[in-house]
Amino acid sequence: MCIFCKIANKEIPSKVVFEDEHVIAFHDVNPQAPTHALVIPKRHIAGIAQATPEDEAVLGRLLLAARRVAELTGIAESGFRTVVNSGANAGQTVFHIHVHVMGGRPMAWPPG
Ligand code: 5GP
Repeated sequence: MCIFCKIANKEIPSKVVFEDEHVIAFHDVNPQAPTHALVIPKRHIAGIAQATPEDEAVLGRLLLAARRVAELTGIAESGFRTVVNSGANAGQTVFHIHVHVMGGRPMAWPPG
């Protein structure tokens, strides 16, 4: 079982920000901003490149949960960044799709 499936199953502890039937959001263990959370589907999907039309609803749920995370952590009004890395070359290191939700500091563009 992948590490994020274990977090979703509570086999590995995490600091949960938001959870419902389909998704769970938790603080990143190695934050790159004052607020840095990850939103994942409870059902394993490796990444955007592996997503199928059957995943349409849960992909939408991920972004709506990202909005909830921003609200709950107090970064919704100041602005926040959502990032989904797809593939090793883009920086994906955990192959269970996740939306980074980052805020609490100004964000540069383009990202590195
Ligand atoms: P990626 O590089 O795949 O886009 O992002 C993976 C993220 O997962 C990284 O920011 C990394 O710090 C985080 N991460 C990896 N393992 C764990 C873990 O066991 N717990 C938590 N909370 N975050 C993790």
